[in-house]
Amino acid sequence: MINFAVMMKVIFILISFLILSFMGRISAQEKPFGIVIHGGAGNLIEGKSYDAHLKKLEEAIDLGYDILERGGTSLEAIETVIVVLENSPLFNAGKGSVTNIKGEFELDASIMDGKELKAGAVAGLRNIKNPIKAAKFIMDKTKHVLIVGDGAEDLLFRNGFKKVDKKYFMADASLKPFQDSKYGTVGAVALDKFGNLAAGTSTGGIQDKMKGRVGDSPIIGSGTYADNQYAAVSCTGHGEFFIRNAVAYDVIALVKYKNLNLQQATNFIILDKLVKQGGAGGLIAIDKDANIATPFNTNLMFRAYKTNKGDYGVFYK
Ligand code: ASP
Repeated sequence: MINFAVMMKVIFILISFLILSFMGRISAQEKPFGIVIHGGAGNLIEGKSYDAHLKKLEEAIDLGYDILERGGTSLEAIETVIVVLENSPLFNAGKGSVTNIKGEFELDASIMDGKELKAGAVAGLRNIKNPIKAAKFIMDKTKHVLIVGDGAEDLLFRNGFKKVDKKYFMADASLKPFQDSKYGTVGAVALDKFGNLAAGTSTGGIQDKMKGRVGDSPIIGSGTYADNQYAAVSCTGHGEFFIRNAVAYDVIALVKYKNLNLQQATNFIILDKLVKQGGAGGLIAIDKDANIATPFNTNLMFRAYKTNKGDYGVFYK
């Protein structure tokens, strides 16, 4: 009799344990995660095929999502994906960068870790293949946020970054998406399984910009922002407007102080506020629940997203 009671107890404990661990597994699986990327906002060129751009975006979004699915961090996912886009001549970042008015390349990038509000950025780089890696280096290895020009390059070369020649960035002009438009940039935002948000942006800037001109992309709060409690944002467009409106942080502020959801906050800034000012561009954003938003007020923005909630798409219009 006693033996039977003990046995029943043991069985009860075992079953409870199995149920609890099963529920634990489910809730771990249900933690939302996802990634959104962009390849710049600009003017649609009628009759031009964008198939190659869409293919590259698809490759990048799948790669980023796989990293997150395997348990990689949001920082790892966005850095990897941005490197893929920087290495493609199709986008205005890294290899496909546009030139300034003197025909020189001056590349900008930034990255932000939403967990600790750490950030790193570089501007005016001429000989660094992957500016996003340089931004990550500034974030991880220095006590500063933004280092520009020669100072940044000297530091990077001393720390193992290889020098690439100007020729490296001279992509075939016919491959560039925005020959008759000034915009184009790449960026990524992600939420990983651990609830960490991250954002990154990389650009060659605006075609025929003045020498030394810096846009919004390397400015934390303008082109890039991430805060685990709210969202991660990466912008593209006419940088001067994005700087003056502190766009990336404005998204966070509207969510934080006005309780707007991500869609409302980003639509208001891109489709209302910036339109009234004549500021062309768009942004990508993901929040702490893996809700995503990709508003733009131009007639083209390369973008792609993938979440474990079933969102998946690659678009340009
Ligand atoms: N925002 C970038 C800049 O102003 C350009 C772009 O996104 O196309 O440098």
